[in-house]
Parts: sequence; C-alpha cells; structure tokens
Amino acid sequence: MKETYDLFLKTKYAGLVLGAGWESEGRFEQPGHDFITVSGTVGDEIYTRARKVFRDVLQSQDESIVRGCQIKRHYTRKESDAAELFLVLSPYQYGAAEEYGTWYTDAPLRPDCGIDRQELRILQISPFRSVIENKKNLTCALGSRQVGPMHYPFGKLTKRDLISLWGGETVISERFAELIERGRFGGGRIEPIWNTVSGARAFPALEETPTGTELIARAGSMGMKVSDREFWMWVESAEQLPAFEKALWEEKKVAEERRTAAPPSRRYLQLRVKSPPLAVAEQTVLVDPFIGGSQDHCKCELGEIYARVFSRLYVKRSTWDGSDICQTDLYFGGRQGLFRPFRRLMVSKRLFDLMNQEKIKKVQFEIVELV
Ligand SMILES: [Zn+2]
Repeated sequence: MKETYDLFLKTKYAGLVLGAGWESEGRFEQPGHDFITVSGTVGDEIYTRARKVFRDVLQSQDESIVRGCQIKRHYTRKESDAAELFLVLSPYQYGAAEEYGTWYTDAPLRPDCGIDRQELRILQISPFRSVIENKKNLTCALGSRQVGPMHYPFGKLTKRDLISLWGGETVISERFAELIERGRFGGGRIEPIWNTVSGARAFPALEETPTGTELIARAGSMGMKVSDREFWMWVESAEQLPAFEKALWEEKKVAEERRTAAPPSRRYLQLRVKSPPLAVAEQTVLVDPFIGGSQDHCKCELGEIYARVFSRLYVKRSTWDGSDICQTDLYFGGRQGLFRPFRRLMVSKRLFDLMNQEKIKKVQFEIVELV
C-alpha cells in the first residue's frame, strides 16, 4: 500500500517546511486562499518536516500550520485480492432528503452532549452583524433519526449506482439493488424511496391513511389535535412511533395509487445496513494529525461521533458476523444544517468483486484492516 498526501500548508509557514525560496519552485496559493497545496508520499522528507514544524508551532503559537491534509491509499492487485473487507468511499451528491419531506424525529434535549455547542446568531442584516453564542437547547446529533420512507425526487439524483446524501443515507440504483438481491448479499435492507415530485411538505397527510386516522382519533380522545405541537411530539414517543412509521409508509402507498404521471425512467432505493455494527479498533487514528485535539467528539448512550478517520480503518474481527454489507459502530461527521453523522459503509470481498465486475462507477475503496 502506498499513501499519498495533499497538505494544505498555510503560506506563512511554507518557508519553515519547504525552506527559503519555495516560491521559485512554482508553488503558489490559489486566489482567495492563504495556503498552498503540497503533495507527496506519506513519510517523505517534506511530510516528515511538516510533522515536526507542526508540533513546534502548535507548542509555541498554539496554531496549526495547515488548513487540512488529505490522504489517499493505493493498493496493489495482490493486496486487494487478499483483503476481506472494504471501506466504501462514495462522494456526496448535493442535497438532503430532509428538504423533500423525509421525516426525522426531533432530537430530545441533552445538555451534556451536542457536538455543535455554539451557533451563529444574526443580529442585524445591513450592515451585517452577528455573534457566536452557546446554544440554549443542546441536543445530541444522534437523537434525530429517519422514520418512514425517504423522500427524494429521482430526477434530482445523479445517474450513479451508489450515492451518499448529506444526511448520511445511501441511495442505490435499481440495477445495483437487483444485483445485491440476485447475489444474496446479506447485511443490508433495501427500502423504496418516495419519488417526491411536489417538493417538501411540512407535515404528512396522516388523515389520508388508516393507521394515521387511528392515531388522530386516539390523540383526539386525549384532547390533542393535528395542529398542536404536542401531537407531533406524541407521535414520536416510543409507544406511538411504530404506528406513526406505519402511517408514513401508508401515506406513500396512497399517494402512489393516486398518481397519474408516467413512472420514472430510472428508479432508486435506499440501502440500510441491518447487520451488527463492527467495532472500530484502537489502532485507528481518530484525531487529526495536523490539527490535534479531538474536535467534534461526542459520546453518550446514543453512540459516539468523531469528525473522521485519519488513518487506515481497523476493525475488530470478532465483531464481524461475515455479512456482505456492514457499518462501523462509530459515527462520523456532525450535525450541521442538513448534514448528519453517519456510520461508515463496508462491503465484503465478494460484493467488492461484484461491484468492480459490474462497473459500479465513481466509488472508491480502501482496505479495512481486521484485527
Ligand atoms: Zn450524544
């Protein structure tokens, strides 16, 4: 395996890492940026010097010398042939299912948790004035989850077989879904997506579904109406949630039966992982080697979130039941706007081989180290 890097080195520290006269080597910062991009192989002379300068500057000035560092891993044929499990790297497509009416539960308040403890508050538009302050109502990023079908207009999905959305969901083409089913690849569950054409709706039409009608009647007997905020909190309670979820699936069915438009030419489905999560092993680097500290870390009974993985991914072999479709126990990313933390997707060698053979495009893989 070969690891290459792109280091986004702050221009003011370039001399310390690259030596005087670095500009004459044809290195320039992009307009509007305060860094230059330096590329090479991890462990080379520049990388080693950058690590040393990073430690010195962090200690003396409490500042990082880089804006970031991206590492790519390249494998030989022999290495991929011998691997058993692969981490799937699929690029985000712009957009979030939340924008089209997918229901996510409201995260309950959790004062000890919350990885985004601060928020920007706009005080004045013109001239613009804002303050960054501590959020009053802290919630856990893992406290909100998808209920019922995902809503997304198929026409807005890129023509790929595997897509990640901002909310962390995995969308697959009908072709890929058929390959997974035909090959009996286990560990995942494939669910239909509501091909929303009308755009986002604020609330589901529960009154149009049998289970929703029952829920409304039950709430009514307790003095709650659909227009009340308490009603929507009540349907998300542990006792009502299964019925609410059922009603959301019925709502999709009702809407589709009513639809007169021609069926879409390309169909998509949501791939959800159902196999037991694989434990990330301690060999995995979860702290940015060039920034330091544990940014965006959160741990509570709902789970544990880190910003991202900075090394090869190591998982404990004893936690893998051999499923073809799996995910990590840890979550990555954060809850910023439409972004949500997600578990990293992994596939078995057998599924990896099929994806290569069937040319599932724009997907990259890294070998997962089983320890
Ligand atoms: Zn939490």
